[in-house]
Amino acid sequence: MDCASSRIPIICRDRVSRKALEYLDIVEKFVEEECIPADYAWSAQLDGASSRWEAHPTILNDLKDKARKLGLWNMFLPKAHFPTISAGFSNLEYGLMAEYLGKSVLASEATNCSAPDTGNMEVIARYGSAAQQNEWLEPLLEGRIRSAFLMTEPDVASSDASNMQMKIEKIGDEYVLNGSKWWSSGAGEPSCKIFLVMGRHFQNSKDPYKQHSVILVPANTPGVKIERMLSVMGFDDAPHGHGHITFSNVRVPVSNIVLGEGRGFEIIQGRLGPGRIHHAMRSIGAAEKALEWMLMRVNDPAKRTFGRQLSEHGVIIDWIARSRMEIDASRLVVLNAAIKIDELNAKGALREIAEAKVLVPTMTLTVIDRAMQSFGGAGLSQDTPLAAMWANARTLRIVDGPDEVHLQQMGRNENKRRESVTAKIKMQKAKAQALFMEHNLPASRGFLGNGMLKSML
Ligand SMILES: Cc1cc2nc3c(=O)[nH]c(=O)nc-3n(C[C@H](O)[C@H](O)[C@H](O)COP(=O)(O)OP(=O)(O)OC[C@H]3O[C@@H](n4cnc5c(N)ncnc54)[C@H](O)[C@@H]3O)c2cc1C
Repeated sequence: MDCASSRIPIICRDRVSRKALEYLDIVEKFVEEECIPADYAWSAQLDGASSRWEAHPTILNDLKDKARKLGLWNMFLPKAHFPTISAGFSNLEYGLMAEYLGKSVLASEATNCSAPDTGNMEVIARYGSAAQQNEWLEPLLEGRIRSAFLMTEPDVASSDASNMQMKIEKIGDEYVLNGSKWWSSGAGEPSCKIFLVMGRHFQNSKDPYKQHSVILVPANTPGVKIERMLSVMGFDDAPHGHGHITFSNVRVPVSNIVLGEGRGFEIIQGRLGPGRIHHAMRSIGAAEKALEWMLMRVNDPAKRTFGRQLSEHGVIIDWIARSRMEIDASRLVVLNAAIKIDELNAKGALREIAEAKVLVPTMTLTVIDRAMQSFGGAGLSQDTPLAAMWANARTLRIVDGPDEVHLQQMGRNENKRRESVTAKIKMQKAKAQALFMEHNLPASRGFLGNGMLKSML
């Protein structure tokens, strides 16, 4: 393998510390030589288990031990924003590492960098009280427990989060929760001990963005019931899972509220910023892995068609070139968002985060699709990781808000430039018209012609 630094885009190489360069090589070796082989063994261990929802810790625990010995733990916490608990890397540096983590099913969890725990740890670290941090953040940072974030509800269109109906009532010194949630990722894990639940106080503010709160609910609280696990295009994602959970008169102390009543939207905005690009960063790695599998398949001497290697057919070499180009371009978009978060914060990088959130999964789906196609029927089966990777990448067009919502926001913001750009173009045409007169040029000449020069002046 070349050293990882040679593959860092040249436009950001100067921003990567010597320490991060060293760790990038360690991450790459750990993922390629330890995690990816363990992925295959893990999936065989799950298939052979009496229940896919029981804990199967051996392979993963071994990887966690190795990761900790190598110093690969909690790299996602940026040093500028969490100086006391960070592993000492920037978002940019973690972005480069996350690309490698995205090539493996287990690598993110093995290094305690997996969703939804990363976002949940950031929430408790940023907004939690000292007691909440003591009780929940510490074991999460240690990787002793896992967590889930419960926002989406089955009965409302949740991409508009102000629709959320989970009822929170303050009764005495307790909050009482009633309602249901689904797509609660990670709720299947036996080690998932804490739910961050977003709900609504109906008696409070008229402002739809100040009615919701985030409450910490231990997973074993009476009244919490996991009704079923949802599948993702046929994959159960066990033992992580995506729960459909009901809450019937679930009582927790008032001290379990995060930040305060009506502050839920502030929390989700802070939580989803970096989380969205973590998904995008890992997606780049998935696309790289798909390209690697395609390269192997299209050069397999045993699988020739019409007298040629597949790689000798023009269309296939075109797929390879396009995949390379699209991955490299998308990587720049993700790393640009990471740099912007490092320099400002997630709020200051909303456009860049949204660009990465929408663009990268679409690119990844295209590259994986080409790789699947190059394998023929095998590409859609369990004999390659491609079908599962495609299903996972497809979720990213919906997870953390569907593409359309981000595009709507981005489109509206971009459209705000309409007045300034129209004024600029009018100024340019007026100046052009003056030049036409000064040089005695017929108005019908030139690339704008008569009509265009006069219109909109
Ligand atoms: C694998 C997976 C894991 C998930 N994990 C979690 C989790 O851990 N916690 C959690 O709370 N949620 C989770 N989710 C849920 C996810 O965040 C929601 O599904 C998503 O926000 C969309 O909400 P919805 O399903 O209610 O769709 P709806 O809000 O009903 O939207 C349906 C569709 O309407 C369209 N649409 C919406 N708004 C607009 C618009 N403005 N313009 C044009 N079209 C629009 C979009 O195409 C959208 O897909 C997960 C989902 C999946 C698939």
